[in-house]
Amino acid sequence: MIYETAPAKINFTLDTLFKRADGYHEVEMIMTTIDLNDRLSFEIRNDQQIVVDVEQNYVPTGVKNLAYQAAKLMQETYNIDSGVTISIDKNIPVSAGLGGGSTDAAATMRGMNQLFDLGLSMDELRTLALEIGTDVPFCIQGQTALCKGIGGNIELLNKPPSAWVVVAKPNVGLSTPEVFRQLKLVEPCKTYTHMCVEALQNGDYQQLCESLSNRLEIVSNEMHPEILKLKHNMLNSGADGAVMSGSGPTVYGLAQKVSQAKHIYNSVNGCCNEVYLVRLLG
Ligand code: ATP
Repeated sequence: MIYETAPAKINFTLDTLFKRADGYHEVEMIMTTIDLNDRLSFEIRNDQQIVVDVEQNYVPTGVKNLAYQAAKLMQETYNIDSGVTISIDKNIPVSAGLGGGSTDAAATMRGMNQLFDLGLSMDELRTLALEIGTDVPFCIQGQTALCKGIGGNIELLNKPPSAWVVVAKPNVGLSTPEVFRQLKLVEPCKTYTHMCVEALQNGDYQQLCESLSNRLEIVSNEMHPEILKLKHNMLNSGADGAVMSGSGPTVYGLAQKVSQAKHIYNSVNGCCNEVYLVRLLG
């Protein structure tokens, strides 16, 4: 049996640059990991089946599960004769903008690499991961990275200064494709990724907090105005910086002192079912 930890990701930044000819938005963003984790175990089967076992009944277990898709891709690409049973202990909120499915897929690829002794490098895993989804290559190594284009272009950055993270998911669902459909790129918009890169290079916590931004925040907020209310709630209760992650609806706030972080946690705990107090991993 092999075990893997799959951390959630958050976006420090998410800039959209322009709409490409293929209809996708050119995105530039900085992602990092937090210690809010799914835990996965992998066991070889005697048959060729891929079986995904998740307790929460709202998470798909068949082909729609990204861990299943990752296992199938590994099995086919490397001509693996045996099947695998994947058990997922799910802690990351689902459809939240925290990359839950992507990190499970990445953990599955790392787990199967070990379980079947494939000896694949991180680079090889990242290349294959792109076939599952744009955020999966980042999740292969986690850490903190600048991600450009549709997922393949990853540049590792310095670990962020240590901080507490209050993560809160409003009780609403958001579809990532729908958020991008609503995004209008008529006017050029200020971008923050370069400022965030600089903050990380200099280990400047203050500048990092100032650079937190997400171009999708305003779009998601039009659909669910509780997003900006939550962000302002965090800032008013003492967060050094706060922003929505991915396409939302999860919002997180940063704090360096634990007392400050607990205060923010208590302030938002009433308005969301899912609130966590964790640390940046980076
Ligand atoms: P994205 O930003 O890529 O949309 P997300 O973090 O907002 O991702 P996920 O938690 O990955 O959201 O869930 C998105 C969808 O993926 C849900 O509809 C869920 O049913 C499905 N899904 C597939 N595999 C998984 C998995 N292993 N864990 C959670 N959800 C999964």
